[in-house]
Amino acid sequence: MLDGRPIRIRHHADGDGMCASVPTQTALENFAARVYGDPSATQHTIKRLPSKAPFYETEDVVRDLNYALEDRERRGQRMPLLLMLDNGSTAEDVPAYRTLSQYDVPIVAVDHHHPDPDAVAPWLDAHVNPYLEGEDYAVTTGMLCVELARMIDPDLTDDLEHVPAIAGLSDRSDAAAMTDYLALAKEAGYDEDGLEDVGEALDYAAFQLRYNDGRHLVDDLLDLGGDSERHRELISLLAERAERDNERQLDATLPHTEREDLPNGAACFRVDLEEYAHRFTYPPPGKTTGKIHDRKVAEEGEPVITIGYGPDFAVLRSDGVRLDIPQTVAELTDELPGAGVSGGGHLVVGSIKFVKGKRETVLERLVEKLGDADLDEQLGSAAVAGFED
Ligand code: MN
Repeated sequence: MLDGRPIRIRHHADGDGMCASVPTQTALENFAARVYGDPSATQHTIKRLPSKAPFYETEDVVRDLNYALEDRERRGQRMPLLLMLDNGSTAEDVPAYRTLSQYDVPIVAVDHHHPDPDAVAPWLDAHVNPYLEGEDYAVTTGMLCVELARMIDPDLTDDLEHVPAIAGLSDRSDAAAMTDYLALAKEAGYDEDGLEDVGEALDYAAFQLRYNDGRHLVDDLLDLGGDSERHRELISLLAERAERDNERQLDATLPHTEREDLPNGAACFRVDLEEYAHRFTYPPPGKTTGKIHDRKVAEEGEPVITIGYGPDFAVLRSDGVRLDIPQTVAELTDELPGAGVSGGGHLVVGSIKFVKGKRETVLERLVEKLGDADLDEQLGSAAVAGFED
């Protein structure tokens, strides 16, 4: 079934998503070169495509389908295998999957976002997700895919020792395995602060690259390009820029961030990003909300919820509160007909979309629900999974 099929890798365009997709792509290329005895065999057959949203958007699937059909026509290629990485586990992906199902396109998802297993099962040929095995987001996609890459090409093992640690730091994993991953990276010559910078630099580059996979640049950022000196220079440059832009965004937004004490004892911070954030520049709304949230947690301690909102979206970050954002979104959709509510993400981190005219109603009801949520000292911080456009 897979013989001679091109592969399209769709991945979340963030640090963890790149730690997942770059090693997988390299391993697949090496494998194909071995099988075909020709390194150029992979030129048109294995492609990596970043996705801004944490789900498979219609715009992306239509574009992918178009290219696949053109390649079939022009080069006589088979329809591709679609590999969804750090993405693809939720009901929001189903419309795209339905579209693809009109054609012969097998789909495999490797992801750690909170899944809707029943919704996606009919469309997936394989679904790897820690939630399906009693684990959670803390096992990030980058960690999973480094293992996948090593299975496909064991020779990559030594080059990838620092990558799971970068993935975990980028998505704020509190997995027990993080200690081992950090130790492994340290042995390979990477300390934790440096790896944090790599995560920041990857996020920054992903934002600037937009729809481009930035193949060789990203290789250098991950220190997989073979020139460690250049890697270090690039990381310090980009991490510095990201830091400067983050500070600029915090200077603009913090004075307009309003505090409210919720009935359950959590502090809720709200900021209008449309009015008070720099727009269409780094950091985007999801990341901006995350930075404000981190600052508030550092100042106040948990439990804290932060909402960054625009005309038709809200991004949520929380610590120390037992939220179920996918469930909250489902309730809001039911309770507020005509508000156009949709969204999702991780349990305690996510984003919600709605129609502009219903913003006040949606935000009001949302905050009501957040104020009813149980507090949980055990729950840690999770990854930014919001709409970052
Ligand atoms: Mn991730």
